[in-house]
Amino acid sequence: MQPYAIKFLSVVIPVYNEQDNLPTLLERCKKVIEQLPVPAEVILVDDGSRDNSARMIRAAAREDGPFVAVILNRNYGQHAAVMAGFSRVRGDLVITLDADLQNPPEEIPNLMREAEKGFEVVGTIRMMRKDSFFRRFASRIINNIVRKVTGVHMTDYGCMLRAYRRHVVDTMLACNERSTFIPMLANSFARYTTEISVKHEERGAGDSKYSLLKLINLQFDLLTSMSTAPLRLLTFLGVIIATAGTLFAVALLVMRVIYGAAWGVEGVFPLFAILFIFVGAQFMGIGLVGEYIGRIYYDVRARPRFIIEEVVGQPTAETLP
Ligand code: UDP
Ligand code: MG
Repeated sequence: MQPYAIKFLSVVIPVYNEQDNLPTLLERCKKVIEQLPVPAEVILVDDGSRDNSARMIRAAAREDGPFVAVILNRNYGQHAAVMAGFSRVRGDLVITLDADLQNPPEEIPNLMREAEKGFEVVGTIRMMRKDSFFRRFASRIINNIVRKVTGVHMTDYGCMLRAYRRHVVDTMLACNERSTFIPMLANSFARYTTEISVKHEERGAGDSKYSLLKLINLQFDLLTSMSTAPLRLLTFLGVIIATAGTLFAVALLVMRVIYGAAWGVEGVFPLFAILFIFVGAQFMGIGLVGEYIGRIYYDVRARPRFIIEEVVGQPTAETLP
């Protein structure tokens, strides 16, 4: 691993209805950026906010400062918004963070220090996570599954405070898939990855922008985008269930022969139970296959992942390195 000298830093922040957090966020980011030894830009991506966020971002970008506004024409979701930001970065190191102040911008220099050691992806582990029990429980399970299936060791996939070297970002942009889970994708393109501990704070203002449904969708994105291993697991599980079922059927037949027809009639109920298990397993299987097919459907349509309506405060694309 070679040490790496950062020349220009790009920070990408997705924003969706965060008008109450933006003033503090902008101020704290500016302060951090001013103290950096390298030039930097902060790309604020407005993900179709319905409040004042877009106007505030535009105003910040018009001022002389590090801010760039990328306005999407509607809501595409956090990861698509980050991708839109990626498509406009000029820096050779890219750091993503959330707009809700759960990821302190003050951690940016720490991430840069790791990247300078030569790591291509710097992940983070949230110390003393300030989320609800349900959110923590859900991500613990997901993190465990991801670690097992991918073999890439990452303790905390959920935290978006991360640093990526430019080539990793460019490779992610070149990917055609629409159901992206960025931390996962990045790790599959990097040889040297590391993680550091960062502070995690209470959400500044407002509520989580993830409803239960959106959260479930994100977890399935993660599951289906990482590999087809869950499909294989399903087949494996199916074989086990079928074998057990067959053995059970044989046992029932034997009992029927030994104890006569009267026992068999009473055995109708256990049979129903077994049937229900099978039906359940099948539905689970079909549902999971459906998850893949649904995503294939999205991918073959190849619709744009996002549409950028407007960019404020950034030189034209020709000056990008
Ligand atoms: N976000 C977004 N589009 C969405 C949902 C969220 O750009 O459709 C942004 C949001 O503004 C925030 C980040 O993604 O900056 C993380 O969202 P949130 O804090 O609601 O997620 P949580 O912390 O609950 O995982
Ligand atoms: Mg949050």
